[in-house]
Amino acid sequence: MGRKSKRSGRRSAIRWIIIAVLVILILTVRLVEEIGPERSPSDRFVVSKVIDGDTVELLGGDRLRLLSIDTPERDDPLYDEARELLTGLALGKTADIRFANRRRDRYGRLLGYLYVDSLFVNQIILENGLGYLYLFKDTDLDREETSQLLAAQRRAIDRKVGLWALPREAEEYYLALPNSFRMHRPGCASLRPSDKSRCRRFSTREEGMYEGLSPCRNCCP
Ligand SMILES: [Zn+2]
Repeated sequence: MGRKSKRSGRRSAIRWIIIAVLVILILTVRLVEEIGPERSPSDRFVVSKVIDGDTVELLGGDRLRLLSIDTPERDDPLYDEARELLTGLALGKTADIRFANRRRDRYGRLLGYLYVDSLFVNQIILENGLGYLYLFKDTDLDREETSQLLAAQRRAIDRKVGLWALPREAEEYYLALPNSFRMHRPGCASLRPSDKSRCRRFSTREEGMYEGLSPCRNCCP
């Protein structure tokens, strides 16, 4: 074999190696994209820390805010109970997260329905009266999860457990703006006087919450 053909044979071998490396690189990038954390509709993560009754940290540092529920803040009654319930259900477990139309909130936290061992954790918290259903205008109201959560809240109201058993100063009536999910005391400062005539009225707070409303964070009815 001549020196020339030896050299061209080596050159073509190098060319094939470069092509093979490029193909492998492209395939790897595509694979990583496909298994990336936000690709599949039901992703699996490990819960590494429980922050409070409705927020957990996932292995790797991402935070997940449990969608459509709101649990007591630190220093509020039943804060510890809500946090303990979530800890018992989820800490150290592999979580299945189902996302709705909005994947992250403005703080960069993931927003989702949390499932552990096939249990719908958001629902269990409401079932025990340790949080309120908390919907937004852009919540997927048609989703099955929303009706499951509302049903759980109704059962907790009927059974008078958790938050539903706490004594509260009752108002003569409660108000909610049309197309809003927040319920207010009649004197709430976040309602303009001109708004009040447009509001829907409820004679008890439970009546509004039975429909899926949640307490305004300002007047805390
Ligand atoms: Zn209010």
